[in-house]
Amino acid sequence: MTINTEVQGRPSRPKSQKWEAELVEIIDETPDIKTFRFHKPENWTFIPGQYVMVYFPEVFGKKNRAYSIASSPTDPDYIDLSIKLYGVFTHHIWNLREGSGWQLKGPYGRFHIDNESDDPLLLLGAGVGITPLMSMIRWATLTKSDRKILLLYSNKRPKDILYKTELIMLERMNPNLRIIYTLTRLGDKLKYTWPGLTGRIDADMIKNEVLRWQEENGLEKATPTSYGCGPIPMLETMEKVLLELNWSKEKIHYEKFW
Ligand SMILES: Cc1cc2nc3c(=O)[nH]c(=O)nc-3n(C[C@H](O)[C@H](O)[C@H](O)COP(=O)(O)OP(=O)(O)OC[C@H]3O[C@@H](n4cnc5c(N)ncnc54)[C@H](O)[C@@H]3O)c2cc1C
Repeated sequence: MTINTEVQGRPSRPKSQKWEAELVEIIDETPDIKTFRFHKPENWTFIPGQYVMVYFPEVFGKKNRAYSIASSPTDPDYIDLSIKLYGVFTHHIWNLREGSGWQLKGPYGRFHIDNESDDPLLLLGAGVGITPLMSMIRWATLTKSDRKILLLYSNKRPKDILYKTELIMLERMNPNLRIIYTLTRLGDKLKYTWPGLTGRIDADMIKNEVLRWQEENGLEKATPTSYGCGPIPMLETMEKVLLELNWSKEKIHYEKFW
């Protein structure tokens, strides 16, 4: 399935609009991340990877914050935003209940999947930075896309892994999806039993996992498109390593949250 974003005969991104969105559900995800679910306006869509701006004009005036849409555009009814508790804005959000009114505006952003391409996808995420990548993975799985996907996902502790249960399910449902987890604060309890990788996503980890994935999937000659979302050092390392591996610069994309 491709998302029809054609405007007057030329391909473009979906038009943004502002709407009053009722919060219909709050889902506890990790100790400091919750998912907030809203009804979608009729005929409104987005491309996996894009974000919306959130406003609470009565409280913050024109001050706003951006949140990547974590759900798939194939969901006919809802959009999900997964938000980490941090500063002023997110503390306000934490006090809101189902039924509260939010002002949302979007979609925005060029960090989105090319939904007409067959390129394999390399996704690098850290913590809550998985949100735009999750939209891509959900979309690719629900549309039964043939695209090979490798997600390299870093977190501090097992309990911080956002969407943990769903990611396991998606990997079972989607034979083209491979997920590699790495933890930076393993602790003594899991030291000998944790089956994933340990430490931050660094140059060696990216290189080793990408080369292994390409070899296992016969992708040595393909030039995958990559999307990274997380701390700036991880994004800089990703660009450096992929350029060393002769990937094309136009196919290396990032989203910076702060
Ligand atoms: C395109 C885009 C998409 C985004 N998508 C998401 C998303 O899906 N989920 C989400 O939770 N956030 C997302 N963000 C970040 C979000 O917009 C806010 O910056 C965040 O929620 C913090 O807002 P706050 O008012 O609570 O904190 P602030 O009071 O603004 O925080 C104070 C300072 O902390 C820094 N900061 C904020 N959060 C963090 C953090 N977690 N780690 C390290 N430093 C931080 C900021 O740079 C700021 O200087 C996105 C940002 C962008 C630009």
